[in-house]
Order: sequence, then C-alpha cells, then structure tokens
Amino acid sequence: MGGKSSTPLIVKGKRLDGRKPEELRPIKIEAGVLNRADGSCYVEWGKNKVIAAVYGPRELHPKHLQDNTQAVLRCRYNMAPFSVDDRKRPGPDRRSVEISKVIREALERVVFLNYFPTSAIDVFMEVLQADAGTRCAALTAASVALADAGVPMRDLVAGCAAGKVDGTVVLDLMQEEDNYGEGDLPLGYIPSKDEIVLLQMDGDFTKDEFKTALNYAIKGAKKIYALQKEALKRKYTTNKETAKWI
Ligand code: ADP
Repeated sequence: MGGKSSTPLIVKGKRLDGRKPEELRPIKIEAGVLNRADGSCYVEWGKNKVIAAVYGPRELHPKHLQDNTQAVLRCRYNMAPFSVDDRKRPGPDRRSVEISKVIREALERVVFLNYFPTSAIDVFMEVLQADAGTRCAALTAASVALADAGVPMRDLVAGCAAGKVDGTVVLDLMQEEDNYGEGDLPLGYIPSKDEIVLLQMDGDFTKDEFKTALNYAIKGAKKIYALQKEALKRKYTTNKETAKWI
C-alpha cells in the first residue's frame, strides 16, 4: 500500500494482467521437490516463486529449549536478495520476523504438536521471486511440505489474499496492485473446518468491503486447498521421474 498510481489499475473491469476482480493468478504446486529435507514443496503463484522445506520432528537441541508436553514448531520465512527488483539486504528484518511468526501461529493450529514432546519441527520458507502475496504462498507451501514430511496434521492450511484497488475489492493482489492499491487482506484458512488461522489487514476497507474481501479470500483459499491436495496426491501416485508439473 503506497501512493496512488497515476494510471488506473482497473480498466473496463479488467486488471493490469487481464484478470477479473475475483480471479486468481495462475498457480502451480509441486510436493517433494527436495531430496535432503523430510518434506518440501515448491509454489509458483503468478510471478511468485517460493520453496518450503521441513525437517523433523527431531530431538530439539539445546535441551533447555525443549517442551516436555509438545513439539516446538520453528518457522523461518526469508526473502532471497535476488527476489525483488532492488537487491534485498540478506538476513532477517522486522517484516520477515513478523511473517514467520504469523505463519507459525497458523500452522500451530493444524499440526499435532502434542504427539512429539521434546522435539522440534523446522519449517523453512524461501522466497526466490516476490510479486506480492508471498506470505500466503509461503504458508501454502509450508503446509504441503509438512504433509509431505508425514507430520500428523488436522488438515492443510491454504493461504490467499484479497485487497482493494481503485475502490474495487479484488482477489489476489499482484505487485502493482499491492504498491498502489488501497487495501490488502491476507488470509490463512482451513476449508474443511471453515476456520481462519491467519488474518491480517493493511489499508482501509469499509465494513461491506471487508466482508466482500473476506468472502473472496475464502473462495480463493478453497481453490488453493484443492491444488494442495492434488499436489500431494500426484507426489504419491506418480513415478518421481515423471512427476514434473503434470
Ligand atoms: P506479501 O508478500 O505477503 O504480500 P507485503 O505486503 O509485506 O507481503 O509485501 C508485498 C510485496 O512487496 C512482496 O511480495 C514483495 O514483492 C515486495 N517487497 C516486500 N519487501 C520488499 C523489500 N525489502 N524490497 C523490495 N520489495 C519488497
């Protein structure tokens, strides 16, 4: 959310990339892309490229960090220096610490942490290319990577954002819309339980706009959820050698 764009972001009902207000960007999800990690997932979402890797559950060291009642879920969201136009300074910053925290809190709602006392489950999310909506893409990838690692979960979490540009509520903002739009509403959602596990808001929405945006984001998350399940099914039903973007 920044200043206003000098050119309109919506012309004759179509957005800059030709999408209708309630349309998602093209999305591809692939599970099990890394050999070394226990579970992994790669997501291409519009121009976003995000990879997630899961290690564990495994004994947590040093011991004083252990919880005797449940596993400790550790999440790290990181943007590669080459993921944005101007080189991003490597290492954690306020934004990545915040995103790691909200993603951890969302995933804590689905992972059966109590099955693994004294253990750690590590989730690494690397943004290779960013074009707005990376926290939703990272959450989506992390959730598939956890399932791919065989970590017991109540269900998958799907991420999807809605927003507002030129006074219109739209689904799934891309970079220009995020920069010059009036609002962004990222959501983490469990469709089978109708449960919201992440909800943030940037910018201004009226009460009605908020309701519409939430509705759009939930509908989008349901579509993402179907793709997540398909990706996992594909991984376990196809030959690894031929499982590339089928
Ligand atoms: P999200 O990626 O979840 O939408 P933000 O709204 O904070 O999170 O960021 C929107 C977009 O702005 C990011 O996806 C990325 O493309 C861009 N962005 C974020 N941080 C930086 C940065 N330090 N330098 C350049 N671009 C950035």
